[in-house]
Amino acid sequence: MLDVFCVAHVAVLAALVVLFILCVVRKNSPAKSAFMMFCLTLAIMVVGMLLEMLESHTTREAIMAVKMQYTALFPFSLSMLGFCSIMGRFKVSKAVWVAISLVECASYLALITTGTTPENNHGLFYSSMEIVHDGNFSYLHVEKGPFWTVTYVALTLLVVYIMASLIVSCVRDSTPIQRRRIGYVITGIGILFLECVLKCLGVFGGYNLFAFAALLMVVFFFLSLIRYGYFNTTASAPANALEHGVEGVVMLDERGMLIYINATAKAIIPEITKMKKAGEHTLIQSVLTDGDKTVNIGGIVYDVRSERVDDYSSPGGSIIWFVNMTKYQEQLDKINAANRAKSEFLARMSHEIRTPINTILGLNDVIRSETQSSEIRAYSENIADAGSTLLALINDILDIAKAEAGMLTLSSKPYSTDALFSEIRLMGEQKTREKGLELIFEISPRIPERLIGDSVRIKQMVLNLLTNAAKYTDRGLVKLGADMKQGNLIIAVSDTGIGIKPEDIEVIFKNFGRVPSNQEGTGLGLTITKQIVQAMGGTLTVESEYTKGSVFTLTFPQKTADGAVEQTRAAEGYFSCP
Ligand code: ADP
Repeated sequence: MLDVFCVAHVAVLAALVVLFILCVVRKNSPAKSAFMMFCLTLAIMVVGMLLEMLESHTTREAIMAVKMQYTALFPFSLSMLGFCSIMGRFKVSKAVWVAISLVECASYLALITTGTTPENNHGLFYSSMEIVHDGNFSYLHVEKGPFWTVTYVALTLLVVYIMASLIVSCVRDSTPIQRRRIGYVITGIGILFLECVLKCLGVFGGYNLFAFAALLMVVFFFLSLIRYGYFNTTASAPANALEHGVEGVVMLDERGMLIYINATAKAIIPEITKMKKAGEHTLIQSVLTDGDKTVNIGGIVYDVRSERVDDYSSPGGSIIWFVNMTKYQEQLDKINAANRAKSEFLARMSHEIRTPINTILGLNDVIRSETQSSEIRAYSENIADAGSTLLALINDILDIAKAEAGMLTLSSKPYSTDALFSEIRLMGEQKTREKGLELIFEISPRIPERLIGDSVRIKQMVLNLLTNAAKYTDRGLVKLGADMKQGNLIIAVSDTGIGIKPEDIEVIFKNFGRVPSNQEGTGLGLTITKQIVQAMGGTLTVESEYTKGSVFTLTFPQKTADGAVEQTRAAEGYFSCP
């Protein structure tokens, strides 16, 4: 009988070692770590049991073996809780962890300090103990002390808690696989629970079948891990996500050779797999050299983004992502359509409002010229002032709305640059004279006499800049410099005015954007100017020094009317802050 029992214990040990090794060779996961801890502690307990049975001749030796068993029992119970909570996906509150750890620490202290003779036994764990040789093997016969009761009540409560939590999550859990996994865990715990109950009822007499029950439990736990690929699911989750995710992923090494391509990317650019060097794929190459791109492949809009990958801080290659943006693009199109509709409405409205205002102003002019009363004339002049301000505002709004709705039409007619600058000078002088400013014009002889473009819009833009320069300059001068370079007409308006703080530069190009410290106008002029020059394919830039002055520069392409070659006489120095 002793032989059978001993061989069975050694078999349990061997089985635990096998399970442990099987666990080690699998990829890492928290469930696996808990399971390994579980096997290890159980193995120590079995060794303790063997020592108690075979090697204990005295009570002292037997209690040493029992202490060894309990040393493992406490981490065993904690790893059981950890394992079950991971498998059952229920959260163990901190309070439960702390309570069980405290109880187990106290019980363990009571046990470990237990003396081996009646004189030095404090009686906290065992009130008395004695080795028994029943002819087959030895075991420690004990009278239970208070901490023994505490230990077993705590362990029973723990097992009940685990069972209850597992059952709840089994009922709640949605997937059948997870339910089966939990089923295995519940069976394992159930076996251990049954063994404990039967032992307490004295069914096994002096035999301790804990090792076998625990082994069965471990086997069921192991089944729960491997039967439905729990190891696989957790370890391969990132790989699965990458392989079957909605985003296409291509990985290249430093030389542009294909390291990995996921199923989605294969469907997007199947030809890449046949290429010798994936880095030479036209799209991939352009993304790697010019940066991220939005492309339409087979009616689907992708944002193609690249990322550098470092291999231990040296360049390791790149990852290219294909992010499906079709839905966002559709939404964007809708928003743009709504925005366009709003701008069209505004453009129409302001156009309609202009007609009655013009009628009012016209009739007001009649009243002013016909009236004999100086009082009525004064009223009428006020109406004229307010009316022209209103008209200017409406005109600005019309221009902006037109530009936003893409309705800004530009004419392309030959015009005389001499005439253009003369008119601009005339109107500019009027603005600067009012403020006692000097107006300087420096027109480069490189500008041909005749150009093709929209001279009305050019005048509008330059006058906006000149009006601003005069408006925001109290003393000094306003200068207009013009030149022609590489097919671009460049007109720079500079002033010695109040200047703009760097943080305000962005604001001034926004609709109704005005610098907080100076709120003289409507904040629409620069927006319109920028929209017009952009519609011409050009740019408006600004350089400014706060309190010193500003330079606004328009650069836009203009065709020469008679194919005249630009003259080459250089004229430098127009565009700096005066
Ligand atoms: P408005 O002059 O009608 O307010 P703009 O769009 O023409 O609108 O100008 C926007 C803002 O930019 C102005 O309110 C002003 O604060 C600033 N700004 C424009 N031109 C100049 C300039 N030459 N010097 C200093 N500030 C300027």
